[in-house]
Amino acid sequence: MTKYAVEPMDIPTVAIAGSDEVFPVRRIYCVGRNYAEHAREMGSDPDRDPPFFFMKPNNTIIPNGADFPYPSMSDNVHYEMELVVAIGTGGKDIPQDMATGHIFGYGCGLDMTRRDLQFAMREKGRPWEIGKAFDGSAPCAELYRASDIGHPSSGAIWLRVNGEIKQTADISDLIWNIPETIEHLSSLFELQPGDLIYTGTPAGVGPVVAGDVMNGHIEGVGDITIKVV
Ligand code: MN
Repeated sequence: MTKYAVEPMDIPTVAIAGSDEVFPVRRIYCVGRNYAEHAREMGSDPDRDPPFFFMKPNNTIIPNGADFPYPSMSDNVHYEMELVVAIGTGGKDIPQDMATGHIFGYGCGLDMTRRDLQFAMREKGRPWEIGKAFDGSAPCAELYRASDIGHPSSGAIWLRVNGEIKQTADISDLIWNIPETIEHLSSLFELQPGDLIYTGTPAGVGPVVAGDVMNGHIEGVGDITIKVV
């Protein structure tokens, strides 16, 4: 039996809708700008340049209904409503026509971002972790198994803050759809069961403050509600 010198962390998990099983989270991959209107609002020219990726630690996950603690060292924390893909079968160099076979399911997620720190790092060509990978930065609602809901390629995605619509789009607007994203990502990293992919956010990102309630929805994939505290 392994003798750990310090207490090892528990494996972070995400609930699975209608099940007493949970999904163990290995890595959290995120796609950079992946909706054209959002790319424009971030000051980029949307094109078909290859998608780019960043990661968050798996223990940045918080569950649906949780409080999101406003992070330190920022006064411009943004929501980004995203479709999350959960990998059930690993692989590398997965061709897009085989990609859905690797997907366990889907859920609603928020890629919470310290926008001021992200932009400061971007301007200097530095890594994004302090803007993207802070504690609590990856709210993820319960996953729906692909065997139950299929593989959504279209459907409304929206986010309300305090009841007011902030983001609204359709997942068919993704620049790189899910099979294409998996093809690219698996050429860079060998995917493994337990990996999550946050697929990018539509236009309309903006700040939240303590007391705000974020409520997101993806047609056929469920809902997420998170309060900023
Ligand atoms: Mn994002």
